[in-house]
Amino acid sequence: MTKHIFVTGGVVSSLGKGLTSASIGLLLERRGLRVRMQKLDPYINVDPGTMSPYQHGEVYVLDDGAETDLDLGHYERFTNSPLSQRSNYTTGRIYSSIIQKERSGQYLGATVQVVPHVTDEIKLAISQLAGPDVDVVITELGGTVGDIEGLPFLEAIRQFPLDVGRDNCLFIHLTLVPYLKAAREAKTKPTQHSVGQLRQIGIQPDILVVRTERPLGRESTDKIALFCNVEKNAVIEETDKDFSIYEVPLGLAEHGLDKLIINKLGLPPGEVDLDDWKNLMVRVKKPNHEVTIGIVGKYIEHRDAYKSIYESLTHAGFAHTTRVIFKRVEAEDLTGSDLDGVLGNIDGLLVPGGFGYRGIEGKINAIKYARENGIPFFGICLGMQCAVIEYARNVLGLTDANSTEFAEDTSDPVICMLEEQKDITEKGGTMRLGAQPCQLSSGSRAQQAYGTSEIEERHRHRYEFNPAYRERLIAAGLIPTGKHPQRDLVEVVEVPTHPWFVAVQYHPEFKSKPLAPHPLFHSFIGAAIERHRR
Ligand code: GLN
Repeated sequence: MTKHIFVTGGVVSSLGKGLTSASIGLLLERRGLRVRMQKLDPYINVDPGTMSPYQHGEVYVLDDGAETDLDLGHYERFTNSPLSQRSNYTTGRIYSSIIQKERSGQYLGATVQVVPHVTDEIKLAISQLAGPDVDVVITELGGTVGDIEGLPFLEAIRQFPLDVGRDNCLFIHLTLVPYLKAAREAKTKPTQHSVGQLRQIGIQPDILVVRTERPLGRESTDKIALFCNVEKNAVIEETDKDFSIYEVPLGLAEHGLDKLIINKLGLPPGEVDLDDWKNLMVRVKKPNHEVTIGIVGKYIEHRDAYKSIYESLTHAGFAHTTRVIFKRVEAEDLTGSDLDGVLGNIDGLLVPGGFGYRGIEGKINAIKYARENGIPFFGICLGMQCAVIEYARNVLGLTDANSTEFAEDTSDPVICMLEEQKDITEKGGTMRLGAQPCQLSSGSRAQQAYGTSEIEERHRHRYEFNPAYRERLIAAGLIPTGKHPQRDLVEVVEVPTHPWFVAVQYHPEFKSKPLAPHPLFHSFIGAAIERHRR
């Protein structure tokens, strides 16, 4: 029988519920359990694909093309749980399925209501992850307890134990215990209120994970236990980790969270094996090198907009025992002439993906600077498209070269819309999405980095390299080194005469893990270390 863990959050948002859920997933997997992870998001968008990164941070893309919440990135980086469209549901998605059923008469004359129809649909989304090959499903509920829009989801998880048995379910609630400097005290009242709200709905949490800036004393945890009606040993503190988010699971294990979960769910005890993870954390705290990577984007001040890129750079740094410092540069600020002042001290430049014209000219200037100064350059999706535009303008002399995304009637559309996209008018879920095969040319930098010619990477775009310019660009030194095996699509370009200039149409950042960094990020950071040594 599959066990279910529900993770809710209270007091404030941004407590790191995703990280905590992912850490629980990791700890259980390291005890030999087969885990599935899932996020339920109470907003009305059908998926986050149509949301601005300012609203929502990065859109994380899965192999099957699902455009999902960025917490799924944590799940993939921490666990081996296979993720798919079934791993992320929103209110919008739940309702669109219900409305479809209603329109096709599937409710047979019933009045369609939040209880039971919406809650049934949510329970279906949860239970479809269970099965004979799954020991534990971890379902994280987005938002904060007390949000109006979260109520149907809370009601659904309240009902869930009635269907599968209370012993097979565990409720974990993540809260904040703020420390008030003036009073020199950790304050437990917000946590008491948050649990109070959950209990009003009918959910008694089994375990409280409390985020704190500084360690809580026994007195505080005992008080929380008493007022929140949980056992004393089931109040687990999660102190802030200054060094790395990858320390979170180690901290939770130290406080016995995984053992507690196992006991409460009656799962086989076994030992948790975290040696490689622990060793990694010990090793990377004493880095041998330090490199500065310039990231030029347009949502740069939003910490989560390029989440997986930052994580992938960090993983590559781990592998080189190198501290990677991010220099976040707002692309719009790079249209002046003082590029030396901004980019002069970087050891590598990364231009990530994006949409729309704002910031494009600054990105192109930054790429020109990296190309001319031999600074390792890594372009991703829009970053690759900008690299092609830059090369066409400044090396081929096609001064009007552009993407038709930004200038529909440019005389030199070096980036143009994919044929299959031309008749699509709907915006949601209609890009070229998900894992696609790519064939790398032997001897190319990309092929050497991957150590193989056959790869598969995830996509999310509408535009592509225009093959009409292939020969001219090759003659000028920009070489397509990765292509779709069956279709005329350029997926990778390189400048072989440059120390490291690789740009990819896909998103490698969705496939990097702390113990298994993505090969291109690994190679890029290697080149940045070389550059730094000079
Ligand atoms: N806007 C570009 C396109 O749609 C790039 C997308 C991206 O960087 N993800 O092709």
